[in-house]
Amino acid sequence: NLLRTAKYQISATKPQNFPADEGVEVAFAGRSNAGKSSCLNVIANQRALARVSKTPGRTQMINFFSLQDEQLKLVDLPGYGYAKVPVAMRANWGRNIQAFLENRRCLAGLVMIMDSRHPMSPLDQQMMDWALARQLPLHAVLTKADKLSRNVQNQTLMKVRKELPEGCTTQLFSALKRQGIEELDERLKSWMLP
Ligand code: GDP
Repeated sequence: NLLRTAKYQISATKPQNFPADEGVEVAFAGRSNAGKSSCLNVIANQRALARVSKTPGRTQMINFFSLQDEQLKLVDLPGYGYAKVPVAMRANWGRNIQAFLENRRCLAGLVMIMDSRHPMSPLDQQMMDWALARQLPLHAVLTKADKLSRNVQNQTLMKVRKELPEGCTTQLFSALKRQGIEELDERLKSWMLP
């Protein structure tokens, strides 16, 4: 399994410190606490893969994980919307993410991690707008689905599907119940191994 070969590579804020802009990358974005680290850990089947993204000093960095031959990478973008972060820092961070989404040539797609209980926040939409501005494929993962009844899960899925711009895809996910892993796997592979 491709994703299980994920290995932490480097954390950086500035483009000059990023790995070379080559190969194929898929980026993961989401509000702080949406469940992005849990999702990365589950799809890579490594309990602590994304722990690095939570270490002090790295929460605002872009974290790169290489797969297999290092030509394929997962990119963990800094979580946003965390109220305790000072306004000036937040602005800087938005600029970094925007620049990354707009300029990174090897980026093949963006996975938006959203808590299925409150998806499509204004900051989520901002992030998606940046990605869509360059026609980047976008897949919305509605996580913590285990917190919703089957009925509400399906209603949420349909609602988000309607709100997403054309061409975007979405799915339910639960790191806790290991729900939706295969679907996400397939989406990532379709972007990385076309
Ligand atoms: P991040 O800040 O987006 O990386 O979020 P984390 O992965 O650290 O998750 C934030 C909190 O949500 C933690 O307490 C997790 O245990 C919890 N969480 C993450 N995914 C799930 C899930 O699928 N189901 C449930 N019930 N809780 C989850």
